[in-house]
Amino acid sequence: MTSLSDLPIRDDLRGQEPYGAPQKSVRLALNVNENTHPVPDEVVAHVTAAVERAVRGVNRYPDREFSELREHLAAYLGPDVSPTQVWAANGSNEIIQQILQAFGGPGRSVLGFPPTYSMHSIIAAGTGTRWVAAERDDDYRLSPATAVAAVTQHDPDLVFLCAPNNPTGTPLELETIEAVYAASRGIVMVDEAYAEFMPAGRESALSLLPGRERLVVSRTMSKAFAFAGARLGYLAADPAVVDALRLVRLPYHLSAITQAAAVAALEHAPAMLQTVQAIREQRDRLVVELAALGYTPHESWANFVLFGGVDDPRATFDYLLENDILIRDVGLANHLRVTAGTPAETTEFLEVLGRMTR
Ligand SMILES: *Cc1c(COP(=O)(O)O)cnc(C)c1O
Repeated sequence: MTSLSDLPIRDDLRGQEPYGAPQKSVRLALNVNENTHPVPDEVVAHVTAAVERAVRGVNRYPDREFSELREHLAAYLGPDVSPTQVWAANGSNEIIQQILQAFGGPGRSVLGFPPTYSMHSIIAAGTGTRWVAAERDDDYRLSPATAVAAVTQHDPDLVFLCAPNNPTGTPLELETIEAVYAASRGIVMVDEAYAEFMPAGRESALSLLPGRERLVVSRTMSKAFAFAGARLGYLAADPAVVDALRLVRLPYHLSAITQAAAVAALEHAPAMLQTVQAIREQRDRLVVELAALGYTPHESWANFVLFGGVDDPRATFDYLLENDILIRDVGLANHLRVTAGTPAETTEFLEVLGRMTR
């Protein structure tokens, strides 16, 4: 047995921390923003049959271009997105990694606005891309002026935006994305992992793609789509961006089983998304009821709520865990984050939290 620091590891990885959301077996896992509703039975049967067909062919390599899957993803994103604009990988984390491999790397920088998705800076480190952290406005908002000032000051090779933002839930206006794009010379990636949970009628950054060849919109099947364990993330961008990612992806990175499962799930997209409205209602309920308990929840357009006013986050986290409820300490002073689950899960979380003497 030796320790990490004794190994001839890259100097820039020394002292780094791995992604570490605790994985514990609890009755109520409200910590990593999964869709806590089970996959509907009819979809389980359809996906299983598709996977069985795929297994019969796994002596051969899969379609390296995953053309059928890209057609389904493009159709899901709407009539303005063509399959040539779509790319997929094993989770949107791998999408982000491929973007940084192609457009970042040693000697290059990526600008982000913490608190934001922790994997953005961790993948930057893994690819040798310098992570530059800029400030947000009050209540974690990001105005066009604030974002543009940071772009102008740092002149990054990439800008990562998160809309709505994790871990805060904060909405991001399209005006900010447009302004960042106009002010920058590099890739602008908008991480829309939670897009399906935005209020009805709000436009996604997909609407900004025409004429903006440096803009990338990343999505995932891990959240609203209730498919986290299958590992499928994707993006929409100019077809030239897709060409760039072909230079860095490993051949056959999406297994035949992954492709078959994702296509089958997309064929049942309405069934897979039928819980989204119920989850939005639980999110809004969390905001109201956490405030009634004396906490300070933040506005959220995602499927989780960040709440402040927690005197001792560690103690509250541990107390919930003793009650078989796992939520997330995202490292923000006096704050915790909870995923909006089923009505019963939300009720139990609120009741247990309400019983805690503060
Ligand atoms: C959960 C999450 C992802 C999803 O990652 P996958 O690798 O697709 O599971 C991406 N971005 C953000 C902001 C997230 O919160």
